[in-house]
Amino acid sequence: MLERLLSGRFGCSCFVCRGAARGLLCAQCAAELPRLARPLCPRCALESPGGAICGRCLSQPPAYDATHAALAYDFPADTLVHALKFRGELALAPLLAGLLAPKLRGDGIDHVVPVPLSAERLRRRGYNQAAEIARHLGRDALEVALCERTREAPPQMELPYDERQRNVRGAFRCTRALIGARIAVVDDVMTTGATLDEMARTLKAAGAVHVENWVVARTLPHA
Ligand SMILES: [Zn+2]
Ligand SMILES: [Zn+2]
Repeated sequence: MLERLLSGRFGCSCFVCRGAARGLLCAQCAAELPRLARPLCPRCALESPGGAICGRCLSQPPAYDATHAALAYDFPADTLVHALKFRGELALAPLLAGLLAPKLRGDGIDHVVPVPLSAERLRRRGYNQAAEIARHLGRDALEVALCERTREAPPQMELPYDERQRNVRGAFRCTRALIGARIAVVDDVMTTGATLDEMARTLKAAGAVHVENWVVARTLPHA
């Protein structure tokens, strides 16, 4: 499966090391991707002894119920995510979706929705990287237009954590009621979780009973 996904338009040069490759990544770079293998908190996907709910999620429960992530947001996952997001390398979407898909069960999920971009940013970029990843997960339940972004906040990476939460408050709107729905939210990278927390809060305000995050990469705190 991964083998098939790795064979893309880049032909014979690895996207990461530029060495010989049969597809997007050479065998060595594919093997060395920073996969999340340690026990993780089921709610936020940060490392947690024994895979228990972590202290932060216990003391300040997020609006989402679970997070599934494939990679740590370290090299070269950051390079791949960045190239898809900002450089129009759409061929990376099936590769990243192919890494995420084995992490998902998705049984009992009624709707799969990508984190939306504002109409203006979508127009400028030409595509929504989260929607591209979601599309390649191959789920019938995909509904790209279930949520809208009402305004684009300043880039989150420039803000400290508590400001990130304020920054995204009220940024999303559901296009219809979702009474009793179980929803998966797809994004490329989860950093503090403030954006996904706001998405989940919005979905639950519209009636959703369960919201889980499906993200390609998770930013880990580094000591
Ligand atoms: Zn390589
Ligand atoms: Zn947690």
